[in-house]
Amino acid sequence: MCLANTCLAIILFLGYGVCNPANSQDYSVLRKEMVKNQLELRGIKSKAVLDVMRKVERHLFVPKNFARAAYSDEPLPIGEGQTISQPYIVAFMTEALNVQPGDRILEIGTGSGYQAAILAELCKEVYTIEIISKLGRRADSLLSTLQYKNVFVRIGDGYQGWPEAAPFDAIIVTCSPAEVPVPLQYQLKEGGRMIIPVGHTAYQELVLITKKNGKLEKKNSLPVLFVPMRDKKGKRY
Ligand code: SAH
Repeated sequence: MCLANTCLAIILFLGYGVCNPANSQDYSVLRKEMVKNQLELRGIKSKAVLDVMRKVERHLFVPKNFARAAYSDEPLPIGEGQTISQPYIVAFMTEALNVQPGDRILEIGTGSGYQAAILAELCKEVYTIEIISKLGRRADSLLSTLQYKNVFVRIGDGYQGWPEAAPFDAIIVTCSPAEVPVPLQYQLKEGGRMIIPVGHTAYQELVLITKKNGKLEKKNSLPVLFVPMRDKKGKRY
């Protein structure tokens, strides 16, 4: 074999190794690279958020045939026409919420359960609602297997929030309504933070809300594209 062919073989072999991690150690290398290249370089600064993104095994939350793409810079399908957000968006929203160890947090749109796991590492309790029962049950079972005892999954319409567990220190919405749902506004504590993608089906902005003296202070941040928030009949809110 000539030198050029040998080099090509080595490059292909190394490339194969990077794209096809064989074990959890390889995934851990991909996670570190993801944190460095996709999060730190784009300005995520919170050490707690960076540490938790380095720790939680995102490849366990995506379908097996997508595990190798779990640390790439993109959203991925999770079945039922839904998606797990790009790692950067998960980190951005988590950092924006300024999560404190004693916080009780409400999430609308459990999906794969990945965002709930990230939050559960940082706060006291996570209450998460998913409208598609198959996804909610799967996430619940995975989160139990991974020993997340502080995450509570409910199958239902998250537009209504979780009144029995309210008020919440923070609310994160990972599906998109046209307006901020009124029940969620009431279920946010005084001083609480909410992050929510608001807008049209094809274009939304992440809005960071803080409740001050009973009023909502809103700050627009990133343009994003989330799946729509729907009611039980499938109609978009
Ligand atoms: N946070 C998820 C990704 C969410 S994708 C993760 O980490 O994987 C958005 C999810 O919101 C989808 O699973 C969708 O079914 C769900 N959803 C849409 N409308 C909803 C509603 N009204 N109540 C609860 N969940 C809803």
